[in-house]
Amino acid sequence: MTIDCDVLVVGAGPVGNTAAISAAKEGLKVVSIDRKLEIASPLRGGEAVCKPFFDELDTELNLLDKVPKKEVKGTLLRGGKCKIIDKEDKWKAYVVERAVMEKLLAENAIDAGVDLRLGSELVSVSGSNRGISSATVRTIEGIFEINPEVVIAADGFASFFRRYYKLDKPVKDWASAIELEMAGIDFYTDELLQVFFEESIAGGYTYVFPKSGSRGLTGVAMRPFFGAKESALEMFWRLKKSYSYLETQLRNAHAIEIRGGCIDVSGPLKELVYGNVMMAGDAANQNFAYIGEGLIPGMTGALLAGKKAALAIEKGDLTRLNEYPKEYEATSLWKELVQTWSIKEKIDSLYDKSIPTDLKLAITCFLEMEIIDWTGKELSAAFKITSLKELLSWGQELADAKSMKCEITEE
Ligand SMILES: Cc1cc2nc3c(=O)[nH]c(=O)nc-3n(C[C@H](O)[C@H](O)[C@H](O)COP(=O)(O)OP(=O)(O)OC[C@H]3O[C@@H](n4cnc5c(N)ncnc54)[C@H](O)[C@@H]3O)c2cc1C
Repeated sequence: MTIDCDVLVVGAGPVGNTAAISAAKEGLKVVSIDRKLEIASPLRGGEAVCKPFFDELDTELNLLDKVPKKEVKGTLLRGGKCKIIDKEDKWKAYVVERAVMEKLLAENAIDAGVDLRLGSELVSVSGSNRGISSATVRTIEGIFEINPEVVIAADGFASFFRRYYKLDKPVKDWASAIELEMAGIDFYTDELLQVFFEESIAGGYTYVFPKSGSRGLTGVAMRPFFGAKESALEMFWRLKKSYSYLETQLRNAHAIEIRGGCIDVSGPLKELVYGNVMMAGDAANQNFAYIGEGLIPGMTGALLAGKKAALAIEKGDLTRLNEYPKEYEATSLWKELVQTWSIKEKIDSLYDKSIPTDLKLAITCFLEMEIIDWTGKELSAAFKITSLKELLSWGQELADAKSMKCEITEE
């Protein structure tokens, strides 16, 4: 069977469905494919999103009213004996029921006219001088050929198009993440996200996020390049027993869902357009690299890509697709992508620094929360301080001078 369409969206994850909605609302004929047999199953990742950015995104998507969620007032960060409670807007969050959100996105896509096909895997493409002219898709009904004007590649971390365009070289900086939804959590607080930096978590962190009642999310994100001898899951089970902040909260908790995956944190791709193919979401490393949050950055990219496909097709000029990366770079989100990547790099540079672990972990927290500016301009002053007490009061003074809603204590 052969299908002609304006836009082929590869991947019906949160980003693909957002792109499909965006293009279909502009009146395009959109076909969307996913190799999975069920939307959001298995879930490819977590459920925490930054509140102010999600509120902004929702002015276009109108999801918030319909998606069950927990709203938290800020974030608690612990690194060694340093505890910071940050109630800046940026650290307020929603923990959304992501499976509901993804199915709602799929419903909205179908209602907008998208031909959404599950059990359909892109296996090869053939090209012409304008880009991809035909896609071969293996489906539960047999092999299909899809002939699109434009392709939106929203096929995630292991993207077909990343391999096709050889975008994974040189070796990327990636995180391996495992997340458990658990019931029976004895939350220290259910009003904050809790994130923990600990010396034995190679290049990453562990966390406890509230959802509803005793139900919440916990897990580990770590970076294998930092020499970990365990998998993320092994690391999680070890920390659950031995790291007091997890042990006390998770003692009576049991998993009701376990999910995992990889996140490329080597910085957002700048080249997002290849002929008639636009990359979005995890396929394009659109994430806040210091924490691996990809939903909002990817869905924002998808909205722009869908609209740009419509403009290019309407004008009969596919070179207009090249406006997509420029528009993405003009968003306030882009600044955040660049800054969070830069913060991650500065945190990484602490690993080889010979300073006591408690000081290192406190400086990590200061960088993560941008008490130390993302450019790192106050880092050299921090390195001169040799006592934790002194470092924490220096950090508090710095936060106060910047009028940040931050409370730093030793615990
Ligand atoms: C454990 C973990 C926790 C995370 N926690 C958070 C969090 O709290 N907040 C946050 O914002 N982000 C989080 N992330 C990142 C977030 O999950 C991703 O950024 C997000 O899933 C990206 O969406 P996507 O649609 O680009 O990719 P995906 O969700 O990976 O979707 C890609 C889709 O493409 C399909 N596909 C792939 N190849 C093909 C093919 N050849 N043919 C057809 N279909 C194909 C896949 O089946 C999949 O459905 C987390 C990630 C992990 C791994």
